Amino acid sequence: MKVVKFGGSSLASAEQLKKVLNIIKEDEQRRIVVVSAPGKRFKEDEKVTDLLIALAKAKLADEDTTYLLDKIILRYADMVKALEITEPVLQQIEENLQMLLSSVTEPSYFIDALKASGEDNNAKLVAAYFRKEGLDAIYINPKDAGLIVSDDPGNANVLESSYDSLKQLATRKEIVVFPGFFGYTKDGKVVTFSRGGSDITGAIVAKGVRALLYENFTDVDGICVANPAMVDNPKRLEYMTYHEMRELSYAGFGVFHDEALQPAFSEGIPVRVKNTNNPSAPGTLITTSVPSTTHVVTGIASMSGFTTIYVEKYLMNREIGFGRKLLQILEELHVSFEHMPSGIDDLTVLLRDNQLSPEKNAILLQRIKYELNVDEVYFNDPICLVMLVGEGMVESIGTLARAASAFARAEINVQMVNQGSSERSIVFGVSPEDEQLAVQALYEEFFG
Ligand code: ASP
Repeated sequence: MKVVKFGGSSLASAEQLKKVLNIIKEDEQRRIVVVSAPGKRFKEDEKVTDLLIALAKAKLADEDTTYLLDKIILRYADMVKALEITEPVLQQIEENLQMLLSSVTEPSYFIDALKASGEDNNAKLVAAYFRKEGLDAIYINPKDAGLIVSDDPGNANVLESSYDSLKQLATRKEIVVFPGFFGYTKDGKVVTFSRGGSDITGAIVAKGVRALLYENFTDVDGICVANPAMVDNPKRLEYMTYHEMRELSYAGFGVFHDEALQPAFSEGIPVRVKNTNNPSAPGTLITTSVPSTTHVVTGIASMSGFTTIYVEKYLMNREIGFGRKLLQILEELHVSFEHMPSGIDDLTVLLRDNQLSPEKNAILLQRIKYELNVDEVYFNDPICLVMLVGEGMVESIGTLARAASAFARAEINVQMVNQGSSERSIVFGVSPEDEQLAVQALYEEFFG
């Protein structure tokens, strides 16, 4: 069987839902359908999830919630009407939202309960629509299916024990419509995964039922080798490996949620990213290994928002425990590091900006200086990371030289280079002003 997940833009309107129905009807192996909340119908539109978050916050602030509530209900009402769904699904949605609003709990759980209702109510609507169109479809709630997650509102993780329960879904004779994005804690509270987390649910369910394939329907024909906002009309990828996708999504490839790869990867379930608006396009297949690589580089990604701390100490290389002590200071301040390229007597620690603050930075510098007795420690200017990713780099010679020449031709100063021994990716640190130019230079070199 195939598990099929549809993203918000694929479920944003009646017109989109008709496409979804056809996709399910087309292939009888598509037995489990994981849905997002209705997303944007056009560029300036609002996602139902964002409206629900605003609604929860308004309620917590004791503000009038009528406007937001009506707006949310209207999104479902439009679809119910246009699709001529006869079951009283709209009434159920209204009652559900009223019930949630009248049971205010601790803020983070309250916000999560409202957020989760976006997918939950949409799943009920989609199941009712499928039934109206003659399919034997059933809505199943994550609690009934045994999807149990950690008690971490807004950032939950699936508990391993869930997989045993989820495998029962494979025995259902109906087409299962399953809401994405949330699960239940052991004591029955609704909590969500991180944003975009319906992809994660799809992968968890696919692992639970040992699916043949996990199809992830979105609004693009497949994954591009570079960000279309940086490069004109970039090429699309037919295949890529889990590792390549992981590396690329780390650096901002937003098509598929990076946390969703883990369950698929651990069970070896191939993932195909496809387009609801063009379902006959093959999309991109993400799997363990790809047919003989024709290219060395699979993709180019970039991401700004990093800061580096430079640390220098004479004879650092001989001091046992220096790195551990430095990382312990970061740990105690709840700061995670991304990369740590080093010289003989110096280290550079790359951190994400969003974890820092002027107060924290001052403490960091103070502690590193006095506890590690270093000669120098300071923050450098912000840095942007540009990544070349490709398993094909393992067997090829000269990739780094080609990248370096491309940067030289574009007159880009490379401030840092980091390549692990997996040779799957090379990370270059450049000035944020050079981000687009750097991506274009690499694209030209490897795909132009
Ligand atoms: N609706 C949720 C969000 O917007 C989850 C998802 O669509 O995957 O983040």
